[in-house]
Amino acid sequence: MKIGILGGGQLGRMLIQEALKYDDQFHMLDPNEDCSCAHISVFTKGDFNKKQDVLDFGKDKDVVSIEIEHVNVEALEELEKQGVKVIPNSNIIKIIQQKILQKQFYDEYQIPSPEFQIILSKEEEIVIGFPFVQKLNTGGYDGKGVQIIKDENDFNNLWDEPSVLENLVDIDKELSLIIAKNERGEIKSFPVTEMVADPKLNLLDFNICPTQISDDVQNQIDVIAEKFMKAADSEGLFAIELFLDKNGKVWVNETAPRLHNSGHQSQEGNANSQFEQFYRVLKNLPLADTSAFGFSGMLNLVGEENFSGKVKYEGLENVLKLPNAYVHLYGKTETKPGRKMGHINVLADSREELLEQLINIKSLVKVVAE
Ligand code: ADP
Repeated sequence: MKIGILGGGQLGRMLIQEALKYDDQFHMLDPNEDCSCAHISVFTKGDFNKKQDVLDFGKDKDVVSIEIEHVNVEALEELEKQGVKVIPNSNIIKIIQQKILQKQFYDEYQIPSPEFQIILSKEEEIVIGFPFVQKLNTGGYDGKGVQIIKDENDFNNLWDEPSVLENLVDIDKELSLIIAKNERGEIKSFPVTEMVADPKLNLLDFNICPTQISDDVQNQIDVIAEKFMKAADSEGLFAIELFLDKNGKVWVNETAPRLHNSGHQSQEGNANSQFEQFYRVLKNLPLADTSAFGFSGMLNLVGEENFSGKVKYEGLENVLKLPNAYVHLYGKTETKPGRKMGHINVLADSREELLEQLINIKSLVKVVAE
């Protein structure tokens, strides 16, 4: 089967890595000839934001999917009309691409997400109370395009662009649920993961699984997941990013219609990974068992501040000597501050041991330039 993916980054790379054990051809479209997938797939250089590039790329594929959501949706709509299978469908990609449509979607389907106001420019009357979070309608990514407005004095910082203004949630935990649906209608989720964010310990890059949540919180998440999948009405693999507030209520932050950073530890931590699951969705195969083996965690390897150029991984050998650590590099030759270059998965018997190992590994390895 000819599988076409828009985007050739690390998510696509790990999908191919997992799916090599089966018999398919992966075709990747990316503007960068040296991207993570360029040398391990049937590669097409092109812009996934350009309609014609996507049409040309998609027309002879059995299925077209994405590993980044910022793609040309008009082209996907046309491919669907031509009878090409597009996963997830163009409609849900279009909704998720725009924060305003995404918020209205949650509202329409009574999926709890923080209270909000939409503005098209900063001249509009602001009725939402302080403090609030401003999120640009388009163009935001990895925390960019998101800012907190604390009070009136902060007003002049307001971006003059179409945005969602959203209540600031008093966050207890940031959680993520990865859930998949295939064409035969099977739905399966992974155990909920938690982003550990303790600024004192500088733990900002850790993701752990499973998280410790009450039955009530798990129930709220199950209800959200069910409503979301029903409303989205699409095959695919989705990452629903959630806030658990200090009163025990769960809110949807946002959803990614694709593989997600918060699911990387499933490569070694679960019976099957998010990549295996996504492959099965693309092929409409029975969905895989997602059970967790004990505790697992993930640490992103990001480019250090002040280093740009040909990448060098310092201290990696010390990590490779550890029994329960698994290194994944993304085949990117150039590092930049904050660029995601790889990750390390860790397995442990308890949450405490897991956090200890992650903190230890974080101190062992550095992504610098030669
Ligand atoms: P991105 O798509 O760039 O990752 P997010 O919408 O996930 O942006 O926001 C980035 C981070 O900002 C979140 O992980 C969370 O820590 C914080 N944040 C976003 N929205 C809110 C909110 N309504 N209340 C409190 N914190 C928020």
